[in-house]
Amino acid sequence: MSAVLGTYARIDVEFDRGEGVYLFTASGDRYLDFAAGVAVNILGHAHPHLVEALTEQARKLWHTSNLYRVTGQERLAERLCSVTFADKVFFANSGAEAMEASIKMARKYHSHRGHPERYRIITFEGAFHGRTLATIAAGNQPKHLAGFGPKVEGFDQVALGDLAAARAAITEETAAILIEPIQGEGGIRTAGWPFLGALRKLADEHGILLMLDEVQSGMGRTGKLFAYEWSGIEPDIMAVAKGLGGGFPIGACLATEKASAGMTAGTHGSTFGGNPLAAAAANAVLDIVLEPNFLLHVREMGLLFKNRLADIAIRHANIIAEVRGEGLMLGLGCNIPNTDVSRMLFAEKLLAVTAGENVVRLLPPLIVTDTEIKEACAKIDNACARLNATLTA
Ligand SMILES: *Cc1c(COP(=O)(O)O)cnc(C)c1O
Repeated sequence: MSAVLGTYARIDVEFDRGEGVYLFTASGDRYLDFAAGVAVNILGHAHPHLVEALTEQARKLWHTSNLYRVTGQERLAERLCSVTFADKVFFANSGAEAMEASIKMARKYHSHRGHPERYRIITFEGAFHGRTLATIAAGNQPKHLAGFGPKVEGFDQVALGDLAAARAAITEETAAILIEPIQGEGGIRTAGWPFLGALRKLADEHGILLMLDEVQSGMGRTGKLFAYEWSGIEPDIMAVAKGLGGGFPIGACLATEKASAGMTAGTHGSTFGGNPLAAAAANAVLDIVLEPNFLLHVREMGLLFKNRLADIAIRHANIIAEVRGEGLMLGLGCNIPNTDVSRMLFAEKLLAVTAGENVVRLLPPLIVTDTEIKEACAKIDNACARLNATLTA
């Protein structure tokens, strides 16, 4: 029995080292990692530039707290602002904390403007925003809320893609609308880019904020630096994490000057948020992701992968119902339990992640190559053939 609290249903495997898109066990078994730490290892494992940047920083200074200036953090914030809608960035250590900062900021925005009664946030069915008390209330999944006492007040959930329901949910107490441009845990689900545009318009009409959770869809995952860029609109507040540190824990809440105006000294904080080590890791990730052809590569690989998956889905229609997603944020809608599919992929030494709506997510490192995608497709093909054999047996 492990002394670790049993909150995870872990697969009984341990990885010893990683290199690029591969993970190795101590006994030398090689796995193709299309889980990427759940969309975290966007540059794969042991990327030389990240290793060098983190090692160099580790020799100099790890942590000083936010009582003092942290130049790496200032540089990271400036760089994030220069490539997004944002003017200001708050640094945290995780996606849930980035979301907490976002939720607090949306409430503070209105209270700062003399409307403390405007604190409610509209969210969408199937959403996942983290596991803190406020973010489980935002996500509103019964399995995440059960047993944890009264739900944090102030979240109103409507069906994904239902603009009329979103409009009807707006009251004098509404502060913001919160949405994932593409739901990750929910099963690579999206209401489409025009829906984001419609929400932007709705928010503007009512003087409320549009908040995006790009914890999973951000940092190049969909082939744009942030998924909202596909929609042609900009949010007021956005939470980022997962890929931001390439495996080092760091999250961020990005916001416009206007939306963040109430967040003055003392209103929010984090001991570790954006410390020198975390900032060094994220700056190194940006060095690579902001290279001229990086996102083009993601889009090309995404198209290749999606087309090949579509072929596999046609050949194994009894296993795979559909291929969905954008860029390298892809999902296989399954016709048999998704856990059976992911287990068979694991047997083929391909790592993937299950999600809602009976989907298996394929989230390879963004540095994945044509050859590695071919290798993954061969494994998926084999897994489908083996599953098919068990079905017809
Ligand atoms: C993973 C995730 C979170 C939570 O991030 P943690 O780092 O686990 O707290 C929040 N929102 C979305 C969309 C996510 O995918």
